[in-house]
Amino acid sequence: MEIIRKIGRHEVLVESSEPCGIYFEESALEPTSGDAAVILGKKEMLGILASGDDYLPLTCRWELLDRCNFSCPFCYIVGHSFNKIARFSEIKSHLAELIEEGLLFCTLTGGEVTIHPDFKAIYQFLKEHGVVVEVFTNGYSIDDELIELFRSHPPIAVEVSLYSVDNERLGKTYGVRDSQGASRVLENVLRLKRAGINVTCKTFLNTVTSPDIKAIILWCKNNEIEHYSSSEVTQGYDGADLGSYAVKKGNHSAREPKVAVCLPCKTKNYGSAINASFSIYPCPSIMLADCTYDMRQIGVAESLRRMKAFMRRFQDTEIVGSGCGTSGCASCMAYAKPVRNEAGELLHFAQP
Ligand code: SF4
Ligand code: SF4
Repeated sequence: MEIIRKIGRHEVLVESSEPCGIYFEESALEPTSGDAAVILGKKEMLGILASGDDYLPLTCRWELLDRCNFSCPFCYIVGHSFNKIARFSEIKSHLAELIEEGLLFCTLTGGEVTIHPDFKAIYQFLKEHGVVVEVFTNGYSIDDELIELFRSHPPIAVEVSLYSVDNERLGKTYGVRDSQGASRVLENVLRLKRAGINVTCKTFLNTVTSPDIKAIILWCKNNEIEHYSSSEVTQGYDGADLGSYAVKKGNHSAREPKVAVCLPCKTKNYGSAINASFSIYPCPSIMLADCTYDMRQIGVAESLRRMKAFMRRFQDTEIVGSGCGTSGCASCMAYAKPVRNEAGELLHFAQP
């Protein structure tokens, strides 16, 4: 199915039967030698669409819900956040508006997306409106219907979080009430692969998963499935300190202190995140009420207007006393301390 979309100043054609079938008008591209088709990466596409000073919500990481059928002890959302599930019927018109505003790449995550009662409908709606979708899941509840949906409307990628290849450990340590839980997850990963879906596995490396990681990597290698891990531990959404789950890192040599600024990345041009209560904010790592807007309450256009105003106010402003975070996210407002006046108004950001 071909969908023509107007995004900012450009018109693009999105083919929903492809994982990432986005086609630009020739005039949007730099003149090239010869008339061969030009293949653009995601960053290049975003760069073309978001050129200029404007902000467009081209990318979004959407936490569909804060519930899960697992209960991993290190999880920063499940057990630390309690929102009523936003049903598709309540948000459909807002979602359509967000797509009108430019949403092009959406990552659906949770909690566990596949247990959202409207997950398939939301996924299909996004695809049929010309959005390229990536799905994060623990892989347990993938059924035949979902595999068929992925076949007809392919996601750009499905990332499955693997925590153990051992049934007993998945039950005891990760709270899965199924004596064959790990086998089921692994079989679902293979089913996705057999269906031609771009499936990758990932593991959060921490003190709980460290006894499992070797076997996970070996299983992925034996089954020719890409695997990556991340050792970052995120604090609970309710402020709970989950730092005790972090694995010890090696000694890094001291880095040169340098000035850190708020929003050093492209988020200020095209990033967004949506939480389980369908509020929008600039980046999943920026957990501040000051820049989180309830789209159901104030509408999509007003939410985007306020979010842009927030970003324009703080983008590239210096983080006072900066020095420890030297690059990327570590040097962003996301990891700095908000400084407020007596009335509680946000003045600037400082080194924590
Ligand atoms: S599978 Fe993921 S979302 Fe579910 S409890 Fe574990 S870490 Fe949290
Ligand atoms: S934390 Fe800051 S630098 Fe990192 S992605 Fe988010 S906005 Fe960008």
